[in-house]
Amino acid sequence: MSRIKPTLIFSHKYNIHFFGIEKLHPFDGCKYGRAWKELKNIFGENLDNWTKCPEREVSSNELSTVHTKIYLSELITNSQYLSKALEIPPLALVPYKLIDRTVLSPMRLATRGTIMAAEAALEDGISVNLSGGYHHASRKKGEGFCIYSDIGVAVYELRQSGKIKSDDKVLMIDLDAHQGNGIARIFDEDKSVFIFDMYNKDIYPKDLWARKRINTDIPLNYGTKDSVYIDNLKRELPLFLKNQRDAKIAFYNAGTDIYEKDPLGKLSISKQGVLERDKFVLNSLIDFGIPCAMVLGGGYTKESYELVVDSICYILKTWADK
Ligand SMILES: [Zn+2]
Repeated sequence: MSRIKPTLIFSHKYNIHFFGIEKLHPFDGCKYGRAWKELKNIFGENLDNWTKCPEREVSSNELSTVHTKIYLSELITNSQYLSKALEIPPLALVPYKLIDRTVLSPMRLATRGTIMAAEAALEDGISVNLSGGYHHASRKKGEGFCIYSDIGVAVYELRQSGKIKSDDKVLMIDLDAHQGNGIARIFDEDKSVFIFDMYNKDIYPKDLWARKRINTDIPLNYGTKDSVYIDNLKRELPLFLKNQRDAKIAFYNAGTDIYEKDPLGKLSISKQGVLERDKFVLNSLIDFGIPCAMVLGGGYTKESYELVVDSICYILKTWADK
């Protein structure tokens, strides 16, 4: 990569407003907009120059490159199914059209955002979609608050549009606190995709079948602290990248649910540790000349957006034109 030019992908419509969803799930549906607002305070009008906004949701055709027709039609007719996949049982009583408009539509927009982030990364080295990272969704199943596999769809879109070839290497670096079982299942038989996954082995999804597919598998214990976490990352990631140095693109799931206060991730990584992780991943990819599309993944505290802001500040201050 001769020149790095970071791109952010964001829409104000990413926020998920669903009358009190915050009370039913630890998920902060406004994390994306909060991060954006804070970045705007820091960078002012400049932020718009580095940002692209998805103008439409991902299409059914784009989704069907990964998801089965039966699954996609289930999503638009079955509140009970949706309430299970979203892990909010009371949603079973809400008409699916309302769930579609308030929860799924922002997710389809963000899925389109991950496609745009992948395209921007290929062109200019680094991009961040301020949402996405739905790594539990597989071809015919939604689970763990993940309905559409944004990264899966982005890989197929890059291939279909000829931006990468089907045998070009694609890397998945998944550092969300949860194991990325959906990604492992979607690319189970795909020899061009290489997966690096470091996660808390003691929490959901404990998907042993999917685990066999991970190329570099780093299961962590409940409560793992900064030193062990960063040591593992600094030892294993360079080895992984060394073996895949000719990769065309890496998708980085930078889930902030590794944070010590996160109620779901159950790891003990400090605020500084999260930033150190992101800096190391991004700089490693740049050093190896591999374009990186970063997505936000999980992060379930009221402070999660601040962690996202810290990492994006680092990206913009390091690589964006002033
Ligand atoms: Zn997670």
